[in-house]
Amino acid sequence: MVLLGSTGSIGVNALHIALKFHIDIEILVAGKNIDLLNKQIKIHNPKLVIVANKEDINKVNHTCVKAGEEAILDAIANSYSNLVVNALVGFSGLKPTLEALKCGKKLALANKESLVVAGQFIDTKNIIPIDSEHFGLWYLYDKTKKIDSLVVTASGGSFRDLPLEKLKTVTIQEALNHPNWSMGNKITIDSATMTNKLFELIEARWLFKTNKCDAIIESKSIIHALINFCDGSTTAHLANVSMQLPIAYAILEQVDGEILEKVDLLQIGSLEFKKIETSRYKIWEFKDELLTNQNLGVVLNSSNDFAVDRFLKGDIGFLDIFKIQSLALNHFNGLKLQNLDDIFVAHKEITTFCKGVKI
Ligand code: NDP
Repeated sequence: MVLLGSTGSIGVNALHIALKFHIDIEILVAGKNIDLLNKQIKIHNPKLVIVANKEDINKVNHTCVKAGEEAILDAIANSYSNLVVNALVGFSGLKPTLEALKCGKKLALANKESLVVAGQFIDTKNIIPIDSEHFGLWYLYDKTKKIDSLVVTASGGSFRDLPLEKLKTVTIQEALNHPNWSMGNKITIDSATMTNKLFELIEARWLFKTNKCDAIIESKSIIHALINFCDGSTTAHLANVSMQLPIAYAILEQVDGEILEKVDLLQIGSLEFKKIETSRYKIWEFKDELLTNQNLGVVLNSSNDFAVDRFLKGDIGFLDIFKIQSLALNHFNGLKLQNLDDIFVAHKEITTFCKGVKI
């Protein structure tokens, strides 16, 4: 397989599954974590390695190393593997997604941002999502019964219990301290603002072709998804907190053994459900608009990529993320997208707009 983002949280878990089930790794793509990449090369022996920056090429212990976005796209096009795992983060995951699909590859997609920005122009039939919520929905989906609506769960993120007046002054380290999941920095912040859950609703919309999707908080992250059927039944997908189950289903031809320890309900004891309140998660105000206006996904994503990057650099406060997102969503409310090229143009315009926002 071709693995994009091997040194990230999803990438490391994907390699764990690949090793356990003897999956051949043709290409490893990483960013700047060359120490970890070198360890991965030793274990998985890929044919080609790609890093983000040219300056790092000679730090990589491999005879065939390239750098940059064009190299990633070329590598996908010239690979013999049928499977591409896209675990890159942010807008930069879009071009590799499009390339993999253009080449007729099966795409195991962790980079949810690809569907958020371009879902309306993407044929999802070759996509298997690597997201615990969409995996849960897929697991429950029963075409023989009439489905009413889809529900995904949210953990509530790092500040779910923090007094609201303290949100203004939280630190980067506090924001990165997720109560349930160990994930990359960007998605951990997206989880704290609830933007990640909006992304997932948009993702669900394209994958399951329905607008009838919503989210609730389940603070232990044991239930990942629920389906409400028209007859009044609700089914729920439960699994322990680990990405290895969705990854295993996305990259293995067949799963017939144990991937995770089974859920022990007696040990869990109780589960608690809560509404996603707009007083804490302000971006949730835009939920209905984002689900009905398919052109707004790119606005949310590009403004969020920009704002989270600045928050992680210490340039802005936590609540400024919403300020930037909401100004962009209001400013670009009338955006019309005709094709994929328009998305790249819009991304640039939205980023320029966000740079001009005075905090
Ligand atoms: P991480 O930040 O942990 O990993 C991102 C990966 O992309 C790293 O390997 C990083 O390399 C690499 N990368 C970044 N920039 C470049 C670049 N310019 N060129 C090449 N490689 C680059 O993120 P996650 O693994 O947490 O998330 C990845 C995606 O999966 C995101 O879209 C996220 O929303 C989604 N997702 C994640 C989940 C999770 O549990 N983590 C759950 C569900 C979805 P390096 O570190 O070497 O710089």
